[in-house]
Amino acid sequence: MSFDSLGLAEPIVRAVREQGYTQPTPIQAQAIPAVMKGGDLMAGAQTGTGKTAGFTLPTLHRLAAAGPKRDARGRVAIRALILTPTRELAAQVEESVRQYGKYLPLTSMVMFGGVGMQPQIDRLRKGVDILVATPGRLLDHHQQGTLDLSHVEIFILDEADRMLDMGFIHDIKKVLAIVPKQKQSLLFSATFSDDIKALADRLLNQPALIEVARRNQTNDAIAQKVHPVGRERKKELLAHLIRQGNWHQVLVFTRMKHGANRLAEFLNKEEISAMAIHGNKSQGARTKALSEFKAGTLQVLVATDIAARGIDIDQLPHVVNFELPNVPEDYVHRIGRTGRAGAQGEAVSLVCVDEEQFLRDIEKLIKREIPKAVVPGFEPPAGEKAEPIVLGRRMTIGVGASRGGRGGQGRPAGGDGRGRPGQPGQPGHSAQGRAAGQGQRQGQGPRQGGPDSGRRDRPATPGGARPPRTGR
Ligand code: AMP
Repeated sequence: MSFDSLGLAEPIVRAVREQGYTQPTPIQAQAIPAVMKGGDLMAGAQTGTGKTAGFTLPTLHRLAAAGPKRDARGRVAIRALILTPTRELAAQVEESVRQYGKYLPLTSMVMFGGVGMQPQIDRLRKGVDILVATPGRLLDHHQQGTLDLSHVEIFILDEADRMLDMGFIHDIKKVLAIVPKQKQSLLFSATFSDDIKALADRLLNQPALIEVARRNQTNDAIAQKVHPVGRERKKELLAHLIRQGNWHQVLVFTRMKHGANRLAEFLNKEEISAMAIHGNKSQGARTKALSEFKAGTLQVLVATDIAARGIDIDQLPHVVNFELPNVPEDYVHRIGRTGRAGAQGEAVSLVCVDEEQFLRDIEKLIKREIPKAVVPGFEPPAGEKAEPIVLGRRMTIGVGASRGGRGGQGRPAGGDGRGRPGQPGQPGHSAQGRAAGQGQRQGQGPRQGGPDSGRRDRPATPGGARPPRTGR
């Protein structure tokens, strides 16, 4: 199938061709005709499937076909609203809108927190057809009367599951209350949990249902590898792998923000250029790090899970799990950063004895064993004992750690994020790990992810309760 055969307007097909895409991906082949027909859509697709073009191309097509619309003041009216969970994703989606719409007389704008309101107000005054926004800043503008959403015809929720994870359900409901009832709605989500289904029931009217490449299946184009290594030698091993393999664009994941900072410092001392991105960094620093990384001038980007969400880099060759995630689904998300849209990629995990249970949980989820190879010179020390892993000030996983999970009496996070001593793999370890992971996100999610810094101080959900990770 080609893009021409989907019936998209010629200027859109031309812009897509310029991107070098010859064939629609499976989600695009299904979503584009469904959206062009004008109906609602519920699509199960994770990042890396080409979902952004899946909703952007038909949206552009419909808006262009309908011709311009003006509000009561004669300004170009906002006809399409795309909500995303993070600033980075908002920026990337809007960039896609601009790229694919470059030959159309349509305008777009990105709106998120952590930057000044006034430039956004000025931009809104000029009029815009397509608005891509994070929920918090969008509502701030609405409250200030600087935003008119009464002409929205197409409403898109991107990465809806992540939005719920990050506690945006109330903001989403508020947004739904201020957009017109009569509209075309599209919901994209990597998973279909009960919460997502409830949201879909509220939002969508007889939607077409599309699901591609389920989230818990990893992409075969990604070569996965585990390097068992001693706890204290991970940093050296990473530097060795980068030098040895002459790796130039490496995305490295750590569990915690301070771990990301320390690792970036270490690599820089080793003369490997590296920057850390997480929610404590200013928007300017995050954007700079990302653009240098994309341009190839920055060799290594060190990121936490939530900060990395939404990062879209074409054909990223190397993803390294410097630490395995305690939530196994995050592994799938992390390695989804490589081998994108058919490109080959390599995902390497440096695993020490403390993380063996995390590894088992991941292998169970992806239903395959990940090949293991010890790197000569970096053999794990004989007799190294597992130690509990501290996930936050009050979260510890492993024997000797609190059994309370969220809000328990775990050891304070030490400088290296570990407590001692313990044994992984004992009953209850995994479930406890998840509970602790939730606790960590509850406390740090919105902050760490930097979805919308104007609203950082709120808990993930009112009352502090976080939706269960059902269906994940
Ligand atoms: P997404 O899932 O929207 O984050 O897209 C994943 C990546 O696939 C992006 O880097 C896109 O530029 C790329 N992409 C989107 N559509 C296609 C296509 N039809 N063929 C090849 N690559 C694509």
